[in-house]
Amino acid sequence: MTVIRRKIPLLRDRHSHPLLYAALMNAVDLNQPGETRESAIERVRAAAAGGGIGWTIATGWNSGRFDLDKSDFDGLPPVVVLSLSIHGLIVNDTGRVLLREHDDAVAAHLDDQDWIERNLRRVLNVFARTGASAERLTVFFGRLRDLGVHSVEEMLLVGEDEIQLFDDAGLASRTQFWAAPETYDSASPAHRERIHGIKLFTDGAIGVTTAALHEKYLTANHNGILLYNDDVLEALISRYASTKPMAIHAIGDAAIDQAVSAIESTRLGASRHVIRIEHAQFISESTARRAKALGLHLSMQPNFSEDSVTYADRLPAGYPACNNPFRMLIDRVGFVPGVDLYFGSDGMPHGVQEALRQSLFPDGGHEGQVLTIDEFVAGYCLPGMAHGSIDVEIDPVNRSVRAIATIAR
Ligand SMILES: [Zn+2]
Repeated sequence: MTVIRRKIPLLRDRHSHPLLYAALMNAVDLNQPGETRESAIERVRAAAAGGGIGWTIATGWNSGRFDLDKSDFDGLPPVVVLSLSIHGLIVNDTGRVLLREHDDAVAAHLDDQDWIERNLRRVLNVFARTGASAERLTVFFGRLRDLGVHSVEEMLLVGEDEIQLFDDAGLASRTQFWAAPETYDSASPAHRERIHGIKLFTDGAIGVTTAALHEKYLTANHNGILLYNDDVLEALISRYASTKPMAIHAIGDAAIDQAVSAIESTRLGASRHVIRIEHAQFISESTARRAKALGLHLSMQPNFSEDSVTYADRLPAGYPACNNPFRMLIDRVGFVPGVDLYFGSDGMPHGVQEALRQSLFPDGGHEGQVLTIDEFVAGYCLPGMAHGSIDVEIDPVNRSVRAIATIAR
């Protein structure tokens, strides 16, 4: 009786990595309810033993839930285990041999998390290119539609040839291409036109304790990693934001503060394209006010509200409650969902079900993370139902959500 029913448009996911996730779609997904260290090792071993030549890939490893080590997979064909945030990876002995053929430098730096963060695109490209094809993209986008997602932005082109794959699959209208500076610079003029904007990373991720915080992680003797010094970051923004929109990955409060300060000091004025902060999980109220005054957009992931629980073991005291502060951003600072605040999944996971559940009923119970259904629709959905719709049932008593997508054919 108390269940609320609504029909909402399909999702427009503002942050994903479709080619990478298409490559990973048949991977062993370790982000399952009830997964243990033992069951994870057993499932990866079974897949590797039964697999053909090449990589056995496992994804979704949550190091907050259980440990895994390279030695758990030695003696098997090539295995790579990617962490939930895809900023960390484990490669077994035979995998290291195979990796040397793909990319010598990545193979040489596997145990150097600092290098991995600074070269993340290069690391992920090894796996994104595995079996990349227009057919695979087509299957992947079909699965997304079943999950209630019409379009996903490609936040990091694997290379300019990825644009051709999207064209071959007839899917270019369901994405928007973002590229690292070096990918953009080396692209042909025709492909440069097709690239919507430039993506920069200023820090890492929480799971691998590389998101740059003002305080030390509980499980490490450091604050995370800032990937640029202030001058270099400011120069990069000055150079690219006058040409293209920019998306700047910044998760930790120290990284977000640095990015906002760098944008302030560029003084590009009206000639500046839109700049988005990606993730912005630990943005403070004072920095949010400066970001709003600069006209910055925030591209955030309601599903990352879960990080408050998942990474409670490593985040400094007080941080879990400050993650994804949607109420502060909307009610106190004046960000408007769908205008300068919008949502995506980063593929963790894709789909309306988890996105909506985490938006309405975040796991940690932090009130500051709660969105209304109207804010969700404004910030996450297509403007209309031409492509299909999602029937939603919300049960506020049991704090549960049921969402079923219907696709217009
Ligand atoms: Zn991402």
